Amino acid sequence: MNMRKTTIPKISEQIAVPIEAIASSQRIAILLAIGKVEACVCHLETILGWRQAYISQHLMALRKADILEDRREGRYVYYRLKNAAYLKLIAASAEVCGLSAETVLKIGETPTHASCECPHCAPTLIPVVSP
Ligand SMILES: [Zn+2]
Repeated sequence: MNMRKTTIPKISEQIAVPIEAIASSQRIAILLAIGKVEACVCHLETILGWRQAYISQHLMALRKADILEDRREGRYVYYRLKNAAYLKLIAASAEVCGLSAETVLKIGETPTHASCECPHCAPTLIPVVSP
């Protein structure tokens, strides 16, 4: 039996899984916006400029695809990449289309956004329990 013939299609099937899982500009945008840290929906709303319901829909799909994991803290849910290799995949794709991978990965790295009211960007705005 020709090993190469049987192995290449098999391994390609496996390799296609993560590529297909993030194969939409919306998913890539969300992963870039989250980057190596974690982000809540309102933070992503600020960065991406999309409606919260729209972002939530994609977050749910990414979680279902086992790409994101979430963590609840108070009334906020934070999302983070389960595997940072997805960022490498996006960086490689950026290079294929002639973009600087370094620049692309830095897009989501802005530590805080003045217009964002999430606990990460505006810790003082966390509502205090009223007396
Ligand atoms: Zn924020």
